Amino acid sequence: MISVNDKQLAQMRAHGEQDYPYECCGLMLGRFESGLKKVIETYSISNARDEEAKRNRFLIRPEELLRGEKYARDQGLDVVGFYHSHPDDVAVPSQYDLEHAWPTYSYIVMSVEQTRAVDLRSWEMESDRSRFNEEEIVSEARP
Ligand SMILES: [Zn+2]
Repeated sequence: MISVNDKQLAQMRAHGEQDYPYECCGLMLGRFESGLKKVIETYSISNARDEEAKRNRFLIRPEELLRGEKYARDQGLDVVGFYHSHPDDVAVPSQYDLEHAWPTYSYIVMSVEQTRAVDLRSWEMESDRSRFNEEEIVSEARP
């Protein structure tokens, strides 16, 4: 289960809409609590792939991930997951996503159709890395 507030959801949707027709990606920073990931902050990063590949797969450069992890540590937070968009495609992880994911983290995938973020779902990898399972998003209406 992952807890994301309305402001963070709005930030991720806005990022996906802004980067359309390319994929956007970013980190979710927060804390691992018992059976729950609590997102405190979103951290947007640019998509490292070339123009063509940006449309269908995401990749975070190692140095950008390191920068994000350092930022999280400085805030006393952990990286609890990643988000990215699927322009004109469903909010379901692709085979590529599965091959480049790690267990434990949450993966939020957004469907952005014609510049509008229309769907947003969260996924967790099965511990044997064979598939993703959908994860419940708890949205708290915090300011
Ligand atoms: Zn994807």
